[in-house]
Amino acid sequence: MRNKAIIAEVKTLSANISFRNYQFLKITAEDGTVGWAEFDVNFGSPGVAHIINELSHRLIGQSAMYHEFIFEDLRNMTRPGWGGVIGEALGAIENALLDLKAKSLDVPVYMLLGGKVRDKLRVYWSHCVSYRHGRASHYPEDKRIYDIDGVRKISREVVDQGFTALKTNIFQYDGEGRISGWGPGMGAPYEPGRNIERKTIRDLHHHLSTMREAAGPDVDILIDLNFNMRTEGYLKVVKALADLDLFWIEIDTMDPKSLAYIRSQSKHPISSCETLIGLNQFLPYFENQAVDVAIVDTPWNGVWQSMKIAAAAAAYDVNVAPHNFYGHLATMMNAHFSAAVPNFRIMETDIDRIAWDHELFTHAPEYKDGYLIVPDRPGWGTEPNEAAFAKYPPNPALGPAKRTTPGFLTI
Ligand SMILES: [Mg+2]
Repeated sequence: MRNKAIIAEVKTLSANISFRNYQFLKITAEDGTVGWAEFDVNFGSPGVAHIINELSHRLIGQSAMYHEFIFEDLRNMTRPGWGGVIGEALGAIENALLDLKAKSLDVPVYMLLGGKVRDKLRVYWSHCVSYRHGRASHYPEDKRIYDIDGVRKISREVVDQGFTALKTNIFQYDGEGRISGWGPGMGAPYEPGRNIERKTIRDLHHHLSTMREAAGPDVDILIDLNFNMRTEGYLKVVKALADLDLFWIEIDTMDPKSLAYIRSQSKHPISSCETLIGLNQFLPYFENQAVDVAIVDTPWNGVWQSMKIAAAAAAYDVNVAPHNFYGHLATMMNAHFSAAVPNFRIMETDIDRIAWDHELFTHAPEYKDGYLIVPDRPGWGTEPNEAAFAKYPPNPALGPAKRTTPGFLTI
């Protein structure tokens, strides 16, 4: 086995999807077999590609069959700076090695994870309203959302397309029913206190009620509050939403004890953890009973390491749900994890991220009646289509470091 899948080249590539750039890692073996991973720099993570390239010389001549050996070697090299973009770089490398190993063995990646325990995965339509409003110019006119009519329309569309769950974000409504997003956790608006006031809470309740009314009683509705508040604000919101019928309330906070307290005050299940890296970051959330569902970002963590996190979650009787708002390759990576992990809850997916997504990959995910059908092709079951990259070169003006002009002090 040691002379199989010997790494000859490590390369990062990028392509533009108009509102962000997709990022890929391509690891080629001496025999020409290629392992792919998708990673991301847009979600608060500038520099991941640079770190991968800094570490890549240590991979040359190694066998991808021994991905754990390589992962630990890279961890040894980066231990003092562990987590964050370092962790994401190692996760990306692990994922490309898994694809290369699986293809070398001519099996789907889920076979390396114990084999699949399910053939199809329940998904939820993520960023419902959010993308078609916040990135309206990237959609055809009839899909753009400006007001409550658009909110009702997409809620019905979710049902019409056969999906059984949707997730949305926080929106404010003006007197005419026009909507605007609210997200101080990501600097929109700039409000470092991350305080939420009563009108925004009332608007959020109105937004979720509108979607429920339009989608009907049989669709699960999820709300993602992200990092947009602190404990006091989250408490106000979970209490204000108590009369609604929600699947989960998603909350990001770095304090597991605060989250456990919020959970104790919430009528609805609480999900969290999408920005954590490594089992040691997840454990305090399990030990403090802070979450009903643990969200795992497998592109960040690496799918093999994510299996360890899922196993620890299972020991606390907690199910996992993959964080998945990237391209089709990341969706497939998350699909193999979700197919193999016993304690799976539901998978995030972006249904209509951008019009030319399908051109950038050899295979798009197949959805049927609200489920993703697990592919049985070798590796992840899809690959970036390099020929299409020339048509969509990366836009250097995008990404967390360059996306917006910095705010200047006006007080
Ligand atoms: Mg989220």
